[in-house]
Amino acid sequence: MANLYLTHKCNRGCSFCFARKVLNDGKGHIDDLLSVDEIKQLLEHFPNQFPEIGLLGGEPFLYPYLDKVLELLWQYRIIPKIFTSATNPIPVGLAGLDIAEKPINFVVNIGTRDSYSEEKYANLLRFFSMFHTRSSLSYTIFDLKADTSFLFDIINQFQLARTIRVGVALPIYKGGNQYIKKEDYTTLGKYVVKFAENASKQNITLGLDCGFVACMFTTKEIGILQCCGVRASFCCGAALDIGPGLEAWNCFPLFQLHKEKALEAENMGELIKKFRVNMNSYFGGQPGIFEKCGACKHYMRKTCGGGCKSFKSV
Ligand code: SF4
Ligand code: SF4
Repeated sequence: MANLYLTHKCNRGCSFCFARKVLNDGKGHIDDLLSVDEIKQLLEHFPNQFPEIGLLGGEPFLYPYLDKVLELLWQYRIIPKIFTSATNPIPVGLAGLDIAEKPINFVVNIGTRDSYSEEKYANLLRFFSMFHTRSSLSYTIFDLKADTSFLFDIINQFQLARTIRVGVALPIYKGGNQYIKKEDYTTLGKYVVKFAENASKQNITLGLDCGFVACMFTTKEIGILQCCGVRASFCCGAALDIGPGLEAWNCFPLFQLHKEKALEAENMGELIKKFRVNMNSYFGGQPGIFEKCGACKHYMRKTCGGGCKSFKSV
């Protein structure tokens, strides 16, 4: 799945945000938008290559043409998946939408109650009451003392999908955001195991995003994760975001490292390969984030990608 990066604008201000430095390469501007025409060009250039497309920002609810983009994707028989904080008023195109008729999914990036103003929290609750059948939660671990039980309460209250996408706060290229230091990865592993066990008691499963590594868990802990139904691949590959000007980048943390013009590739496979080649040449000779990665059996067997490459820039 590729993602369309619609707008830089966001009013949540999360300290760990991967996207907050997107403007810091000196070329972007807060008002830059991915236009509807550009999206149409992309869909015509890569026909039938996207069964589903992620819509990201910034905050997609602040993108002024969301209704037009949704119509366009449905016209091309593509299922939109919107990644949102859902803390802004429901935008045109979603208000009044007949979700029985239109395929659409939401991944709601959620924070603890104290991270919301009264108004934003009211917007979030209003959103869940309308779109709970199409919504799942996403949570980024950045505080290893945070209690995650509030996530289960929200899922139970609104009968959301019983799965949580779990990310870890990773450094963006050359730093500037809040992230979990790799020296704390053993503690992170134990935190994830506890989180998974508590979720499992509520019949909720976790799916780990990229950035987690095999050696943050003991063999016994990996067994516990499996028993709890946790999906984890310990990989690092191209997430592929395409933004204003149809420029593509590997993933948010590496936005400032390298971009490609999406339309210069003949197909998505070629575009992904370009990033693989570029990442290998940039990070060549450093297999992973730890010195031990080079001799690691997980690395040799390709059961761990050696962690987030962005660590090598901080
Ligand atoms: S490849 Fe590196 S990060 Fe992955 S398990 Fe081995 S030592 Fe850990
Ligand atoms: S560098 Fe790899 S692990 Fe880090 S965010 Fe990008 S794809 Fe994920």
